[in-house]
Amino acid sequence: MIIAVASGKGGTGKTTVASSLALVAAEKGEVWFLDCDVEEPNGHIMLKPHWHRKETVRVPVPEINREKCTLCGRCAEVCAFHALVVLPQEVMLFPTMCHSCGGCWHLCPAGAISPGWREIGRVEEGSSGKIGFVHGRLNVGEAISPPLIQAVKKRIRPGVLNIVDAPPGTSCPVIRAVEGADFCLLVTEPTPFGLHDLKLAYEMATQLGVPCGVAVNRSDGNDDPVRQFCHTNNVPLLFQLLQDREVARGYARGIPAVEVRPEWKEHFSALLAFLEKEGYARCAK
Ligand code: SF4
Ligand code: SF4
Repeated sequence: MIIAVASGKGGTGKTTVASSLALVAAEKGEVWFLDCDVEEPNGHIMLKPHWHRKETVRVPVPEINREKCTLCGRCAEVCAFHALVVLPQEVMLFPTMCHSCGGCWHLCPAGAISPGWREIGRVEEGSSGKIGFVHGRLNVGEAISPPLIQAVKKRIRPGVLNIVDAPPGTSCPVIRAVEGADFCLLVTEPTPFGLHDLKLAYEMATQLGVPCGVAVNRSDGNDDPVRQFCHTNNVPLLFQLLQDREVARGYARGIPAVEVRPEWKEHFSALLAFLEKEGYARCAK
């Protein structure tokens, strides 16, 4: 089973929920935690893995052979991402804008372009007790994270529970993290902004065909707008975690919520029981 934990906005407590879910699930069996928030991974701060392996992730970018290039301009025409500019004397590449589509090296009439490689980040793999842990770290200044997210998701293990901690928002990186999941847990907070972004995240998951449920974090007990949204859209409101200063203090020190409040484990156990009962598990790919 693959559970994606996502939120329409940052700061809702997505990692708080994902790490606590992993700890509770690990009491019952093998679980893998895949932190796909590669621009700012922080699951390791909560789960404190011992690292076993690191791997560099590279993407193809064009390499231009000046001797063969006729400066015809075709490569700049076909590049939808404006990563190439043909000047009177040379072709300039802006590597961080390249999406590695391959259009330029397939369509260069002079055969002057071949694919080279550029490092965008690394994948680190380890374990924390019974939790297998993987995360990606995007290089500073790098704009394109989906290939690195894909490299993290390649470590999804068949036959066990995989928890994917998605980046915040609803853009390409989030879509790459959530697609293919069996279930998406949408974490929100009881504010107008939280509700607005919950709606966007729900639409994204629906477009991807991933069933979802909602968890409210930092609830002040007045979650009626979220409850109403869930009721209207027939989305299960799975649990609410109350605003808790001790949990916030623990988070700042890297202590997972269920270690600060062991009684909260029941929420995550109930979520796992719900998923099992509803039969969301597909064979992991
Ligand atoms: S398409 Fe090929 S030959 Fe034409 S400008 Fe680009 S690199 Fe040079
Ligand atoms: S590989 Fe695609 S995105 Fe990259 S420079 Fe070539 S045409 Fe542009």
